[in-house]
Amino acid sequence: MRTTDIAIIGAGPYGLSISAHLRAKEISHEVFGQPMSSWRRYMPTAMLLRSEAHASNLWDPERRYTFERFCVEKGISYVASGRPVPIALFLNYAEWFQIHAVPDVQDQQLTQLSRQDGQFHLSVSNGDMVHARHVIIATGHRYFCNLPSALTELPPELYSHSSDHKDLTPFIAKDVAVIGAGQSSLETAALLHEQGTNVSIIASSDHVSWNADNDGERSLLQKIINPEAGLGFGWRSVAASEFPQVFSMLPRSLRFYLVGRTWGPSGAWWLKNRVSGKLPVLTSHEIMRASASNGKVHLFLRAGGKTEEKEFDHVIAATGFKADLRRLSFLDPALMSSIAAFEGAPQLDRFGESSVPGLFFVGLLAAPTFGPVMRFMFGAKHAAASLAQRFASEKSSHQPLNNPIAATPSADQRQ
Ligand SMILES: Cc1cc2nc3c(=O)[nH]c(=O)nc-3n(C[C@H](O)[C@H](O)[C@H](O)COP(=O)(O)OP(=O)(O)OC[C@H]3O[C@@H](n4cnc5c(N)ncnc54)[C@H](O)[C@@H]3O)c2cc1C
Repeated sequence: MRTTDIAIIGAGPYGLSISAHLRAKEISHEVFGQPMSSWRRYMPTAMLLRSEAHASNLWDPERRYTFERFCVEKGISYVASGRPVPIALFLNYAEWFQIHAVPDVQDQQLTQLSRQDGQFHLSVSNGDMVHARHVIIATGHRYFCNLPSALTELPPELYSHSSDHKDLTPFIAKDVAVIGAGQSSLETAALLHEQGTNVSIIASSDHVSWNADNDGERSLLQKIINPEAGLGFGWRSVAASEFPQVFSMLPRSLRFYLVGRTWGPSGAWWLKNRVSGKLPVLTSHEIMRASASNGKVHLFLRAGGKTEEKEFDHVIAATGFKADLRRLSFLDPALMSSIAAFEGAPQLDRFGESSVPGLFFVGLLAAPTFGPVMRFMFGAKHAAASLAQRFASEKSSHQPLNNPIAATPSADQRQ
């Protein structure tokens, strides 16, 4: 049993960025999780990032480890906007960031989190028991896969969620339906089509929204009228990207409305030519029910007042993620029930602290408080800076219980 001051659970863009910020302020903490595993293990190997290069950063406070700096150091040409970033390149960057800015990640899973006598008790997959005064939950989206209820009665080998697939080759020469009209659906379908899968997109919406073309060339006037921000183009994007604290001051009903209705399903500009006219896109089609026979899926689809039946080898639900605290399986029931929540989202103060003192949430679960930027890695710059400020102001008022990370020199300091 050991004790730490702050435990960060998760080593994705949020966990790593927060750790880099705390380390810079010499604030004692430990980070648990397999670095970038959501990206490394659960996203297609040929995927291109939706975010532009300038919005595809992990964050250290001095901006020494930006994606741009990585590209310069490695002799890779860097274009801030208008050229999609391959996931393999992004993962190389993330590894470089982690080695330099957060070298002491503990590649372990948190299996249980409870709270007793004002301290958090962490059970870790290697058998360690850790006590912590503060816990930051940065476990990402993987707990929240959303599946249409019509599919969940099917045998498990006949359907999956889009985030289950790093490797799509098992679907070569198969008939596959991809459900949804967002980026994951459109990109998964494009990748399947390009490898020789007979793929159809099925969407309940009446059209597919495509983001405006971006060739990276813009006049000064265009930059003023329609500025580019972390989440995209326009002054609305600037507000959502840069002012999450202002968003958090809006009335709760408005925050939930905006998070639910803005930055909804759409396709990146560079994907349009790979989908439109290349494969069937069945819009305004509702899945009424699904059944299985002879190893095939039968989808009963309602469109234009008629029901038709279609047969597939497999259905991939690219139907996104629905953040809900109750799905965090490592949370002890007593701790879970003491977290004040609304519609599955924890209620957070301006630093992301929940109603349980010392328990913080970042990323998807913080989006209803701080806005849509928390659904993207761009939001990590705000979460990391805000938490570093919060803990720095507290640092003087308590003795660090132990200081494993702050005490270890970073790769740069060792050079
Ligand atoms: C297909 C797809 C494409 C996307 N493309 C983009 C994009 O181009 N740009 C963008 O900004 N966003 C994109 N996103 C959203 C993206 O997921 C988030 O921006 C980003 O990953 C959020 O970072 P995170 O650290 O909150 O979560 P994650 O990246 O999911 O990281 C969570 C971390 O927590 C760890 N973890 C989970 N449970 C435990 C546990 N019990 N114990 C210890 N560790 C644990 C995991 O191992 C992982 O390391 C995409 C999402 C998907 C699904």
